[in-house]
Amino acid sequence: MKRSILIVEDEEDIRELLSYTLIREGYQVAAVATGEEALAVAEAKRPDLVILDLMLPCLDGLTVCRKLRANPKTADLAIVMLTAKGEEADIVAGFNMGANDYITKPFSRIVLLARLRAVLRNLGLNRDAEEEADDDAEIRVHNLVIHPGRHQVWIEEQRVELSATEFRLLYTLARKPGWVFTRDRILDSLHGDNYAITERAVDVHVVSLRRKLGAAGQYIETVRGVGYRFKE
Ligand code: CA
Repeated sequence: MKRSILIVEDEEDIRELLSYTLIREGYQVAAVATGEEALAVAEAKRPDLVILDLMLPCLDGLTVCRKLRANPKTADLAIVMLTAKGEEADIVAGFNMGANDYITKPFSRIVLLARLRAVLRNLGLNRDAEEEADDDAEIRVHNLVIHPGRHQVWIEEQRVELSATEFRLLYTLARKPGWVFTRDRILDSLHGDNYAITERAVDVHVVSLRRKLGAAGQYIETVRGVGYRFKE
């Protein structure tokens, strides 16, 4: 099956060069010039990967990245940032927003294609792994053992009592150490509970969960302006 790529770049020359290169390589390509269009097309077409220029007029690339990750319909697609040299701070910010990789301009065709192939390959592996993952398999991370099937958490032989929501919150984060979860995404994973829960409530549950985990509570890190992550 043809992999699909959405190009988001306001500079026409680069946009066309990318389109031409990727189409010739056999990818299915869509290209847009603004962040607003990017969000609309990503949601409608659900491409496998988005090449996202960070310096865009109006809605900038970092905001687009964050919004893509926050929308359940586009949260799983791969994002490769396109940056100019000397935008290191933006690259770090982009990774914190959930970007998978970056390419600096000017780029060579060979490096570009190799990076995209690598990201798409990882994406495929992650999806397969997620589909095959045994939901009842226990998670061992740092000094915690989490049994999803039994809804139990142990820290060094000591059982920790958590509410159903706290448990699900911990499970969501600890399953993917190092991954940043927006409050939106966390809410999605808590939706199995029988009551409505707001973004603000996520913060309250995190505070309570950290307290119950004691010293291990520090593994749940706040990512300012984004959400939470379980320490790698
Ligand atoms: Ca630009």
